[in-house]
Amino acid sequence: MEDSFGHHINYLRISVTDRCNERCSYCLPDEDQVWAEREETLSDDEIVRMTAAGARLGITRLRITGGEPLVRPGVVDLIARLKACPGIRQIGLSSNGTLLARPHGTGTLARALREAGAEALNLSLDSLDRETYARTTRRDFFPRFLEGLDAAQEAGFESIRLNCVLMRGTNEHELWDLADFARQRGCLIRFIELMPVSSRHVLTEENFLSAGEARRLLGFRLGPLTPLPDFKTNGPAAYYAVPATGQRIGFIGAMTNLHFCESCNKLRLTADGKLRPCLGSHLEFDFRHALRNPATTEADLERLFLEVVAGKPKEHEFRDNYQPGRRMIAIGG
Ligand code: SAM
Repeated sequence: MEDSFGHHINYLRISVTDRCNERCSYCLPDEDQVWAEREETLSDDEIVRMTAAGARLGITRLRITGGEPLVRPGVVDLIARLKACPGIRQIGLSSNGTLLARPHGTGTLARALREAGAEALNLSLDSLDRETYARTTRRDFFPRFLEGLDAAQEAGFESIRLNCVLMRGTNEHELWDLADFARQRGCLIRFIELMPVSSRHVLTEENFLSAGEARRLLGFRLGPLTPLPDFKTNGPAAYYAVPATGQRIGFIGAMTNLHFCESCNKLRLTADGKLRPCLGSHLEFDFRHALRNPATTEADLERLFLEVVAGKPKEHEFRDNYQPGRRMIAIGG
């Protein structure tokens, strides 16, 4: 599928729940979150049907996200069913990692997910300091994160990437340690600029740290990072190399990189069945209604998909005094 700006769409991010076992301050600004009712969330059958429709139109890669996708009951079976959809070649999972070491069947949840067909994992990690981790996520789960990472590495995922949200005053003094931790664990790390997704107030002049500044900070200790324009990982991250070690470090600069949207290849399916062509735009199309209408045919679903692609904007509106309409957990990060 191709939109009117030449974006080639082959990637669907699916939020399988708006629920989360953590409460990151930039994602869920209020503790007393009201979750969607169960019947508002798409069922496994509905998610599989949407994915199959997308796959017939050229979607080849999925990312399962949330909320925290691993709190959804039956998520392993759902992933196995999605992997079996003709045309789906790769499934990645975004998680905070804290549930991966849980027992599942005869092994861990990480192993079950790998066996179900998930190949790639993106794990959130904003700090290596237990107190800072607990303050940022409002949960004292850093030890569980480490157990989860161990379980994921034992389960043999093809790639495990660490995603770290940049926050001045919170983790800018830890960037070297985070990069070094990733190197020691053999993971790719990406530093992400705060975006005004759940609320405009999560991003202030005091806490915003740009990707460029993070790069300079890392360069003080590691030597100036060299750009790797040809290294890509299917997303908007720009990669750089550490001269002494060759370690690759990614930067996701939605706020400061003016070319951020040029290679966008995604659509997002929200937990309550809306298809969004862009994280940073209020446009969304209600598929739940169509999925629950017995008269809707597969051809109708495909036509709706193509309408969403046709409505994909040229770029996000975050730099344009964007007023968030929905929480990140509801959209799927
Ligand atoms: N719970 C899963 C996880 O931790 O990866 C999946 C959902 S989470 C919303 C996906 C990613 O979005 C996380 O890496 C999180 O740090 C990031 N995120 C959430 N709110 C953000 C914001 N306002 N700005 C930048 N990144 C954000």
